[in-house]
Amino acid sequence: MQINLSGPDISQAEIDAVLQVMHSTTLSLGPKLGEFESAFAKYTNRKYGVAVNSGTSALHLAMLSLGITAGDEVISTPFSFIATTNCIMMVDAKPVLVDIDPVTYNIDHTQIESKITDKTKCIIPVEVFGNPDGIDKVCDIAKKNNLYCVEDSCEALGSVINNRQVGTLGDISIFAFYPNKQITTGEGGILLTDNKAVADLCYSFRNQGRDTEGGWLAHARMGYNYRLSDISCAIGTVQLGRIDEFVKKRATVASWYNEVLKDESRLVLPAAPDNATMSWFVYVPRLNDAFTGAQRNQMLTTLRDQGVGCSNYFAPIHLQPFMVEKYGYKKGDFPVTEHIADRTMALPFYNNISRNDVEIVCQKLITALDQLKN
Ligand SMILES: *Cc1c(COP(=O)(O)O)cnc(C)c1O
Repeated sequence: MQINLSGPDISQAEIDAVLQVMHSTTLSLGPKLGEFESAFAKYTNRKYGVAVNSGTSALHLAMLSLGITAGDEVISTPFSFIATTNCIMMVDAKPVLVDIDPVTYNIDHTQIESKITDKTKCIIPVEVFGNPDGIDKVCDIAKKNNLYCVEDSCEALGSVINNRQVGTLGDISIFAFYPNKQITTGEGGILLTDNKAVADLCYSFRNQGRDTEGGWLAHARMGYNYRLSDISCAIGTVQLGRIDEFVKKRATVASWYNEVLKDESRLVLPAAPDNATMSWFVYVPRLNDAFTGAQRNQMLTTLRDQGVGCSNYFAPIHLQPFMVEKYGYKKGDFPVTEHIADRTMALPFYNNISRNDVEIVCQKLITALDQLKN
């Protein structure tokens, strides 16, 4: 038996869209690119979308296009996927980390203002696991302090907080399309903004520094090859058209887990915030405070040995070896992040998982809890 941690939801429509591109003569920089960008900009009510080959590339272009550079500081969270802070280091700026809220796992907005210095240029909040709680407040703090807000929305396509849609909150908002995300293009990402100068720079940076008017061998600036192929864009447009269906399916799967596990006091279950629509990225309960990191690791091993895909989302960013080496971080620097990160367990979660598989996972989880050695 094997129940995977994640999996894409591909229908015949995505396959047909790929075939259509394959039968055309334009596999890149063709009509599907603009179609995908327009559809995405429309969905998020943004003026410009710049599709690129990964979420990480989109974050990098965000930093470049805002002119963030050596000597600048960017505030972000130690409880995220590594790309959130790597993009800051890619432009030689310094990540300044702020610990998280123990309930939402999002950056603790009440601690942000104390970390702002005259070098601070930007804040990068993340809607962790799809939960948008507090991110509107972070972007408001950025605005009030004359800082850029780059919303790393890679885990939250379809979430809404206080009637504000995720992807509209930042000066720039970023989504990603690796196959475990709410929608996929195989690999891919998009940068959204209402700022024409930012968008124009990003169109150029992703395409080797070319300007739209120049020729193929005219490079107005140093750029990158961050292009997304028309094959990927065609998949993305179909997937985006199904987002409401996906958000609903994922909420149903989360509700199955929460229902089966509701009386399990050894776990703290994830919950959608009151004033929000939550687009669930992953389903991540955690062991309660009485358990240790070693016990959580034992749980993950036991579950994996029985064919249950699971993971320790996230390992704290500040304790990754290259971060320790570069900035001298140590255990205890971000205690809430470390406490949570020691106890979380991402469980199998995707659109088409069956209720029966969810029940099997829960049963194995409870048995593994019963067997935990102290
Ligand atoms: C997935 C993800 C990204 C981008 O990932 P890519 O693999 O580069 O597409 C960035 N930030 C967060 C928080 C993510 O979850």
